[in-house]
Amino acid sequence: MTGKIISLEDVDLSLGDGAARVHVLQGISLAVSTGEAVGLVGPSGSGKSTLLMVMAGLERPDRGRVMLDGEDLTGLSEDALARVRGRRIGIVFQSFHLVPTMTALENVALPLELAGRSGAFARAETELAGVGLGARLHHYPAQLSGGEQQRVAIARALAPDPAIVVADEPTGNLDEGTGGAVVDLLFRIKRERGTTLVLVTHDATLAERCDRTVHLRAGRVVAADTAAVR
Ligand code: ADP
Ligand code: MG
Repeated sequence: MTGKIISLEDVDLSLGDGAARVHVLQGISLAVSTGEAVGLVGPSGSGKSTLLMVMAGLERPDRGRVMLDGEDLTGLSEDALARVRGRRIGIVFQSFHLVPTMTALENVALPLELAGRSGAFARAETELAGVGLGARLHHYPAQLSGGEQQRVAIARALAPDPAIVVADEPTGNLDEGTGGAVVDLLFRIKRERGTTLVLVTHDATLAERCDRTVHLRAGRVVAADTAAVR
């Protein structure tokens, strides 16, 4: 472990308007070490997804500071934020978020092409083979099982070779066996590439596989356990 790859200092965020306004994140300070796997757990509505989006630079806090890989996200323009995300972060969602009109290969190649990388399709093919989908390159999302779609989403997240992967309940839409295979894949990637992982999960077995868990309740960090507890 060398230093902190993600660091949040006293982050506050409210969302919604008027009577629907919610103080979602309340004074959150948190640091994640390079190569660490952190499980983010807590009741529904405690702010896990929002916190992940703040870490990924997809939501801006009202107050506080977010540092990614030594770069302060405060005050970055939308374009600059998008570049930081593209270079440093891979994001995996519960509901896959694949483009339905694109094949697996096109879905994985898209962010590479948008980032102006050369050889996007060759890279996409390699990543899909790496997640065991070398024989599904030209399938559309609707022609793939849930577990296969999530593996495409993981290949898409990994294709730009990000230092950080964040995943929001990546097994939430999968049955136990399929979810287990997806989790194995995420941890294999962490091992092989030294990727830092932040996982939101309801699944205790998945949380246990992380180096550390951070517990959220009503927008605050209430406990941070280390793996030593296991
Ligand atoms: P979790 O992922 O832990 O279930 P979320 O981060 O999705 O929690 O949401 C935390 C709280 O913030 C919830 O009470 C939710 O209703 C509220 N919230 C999230 N997004 C918005 C929004 N855009 N407007 C108003 N409230 C929101
Ligand atoms: Mg959530």
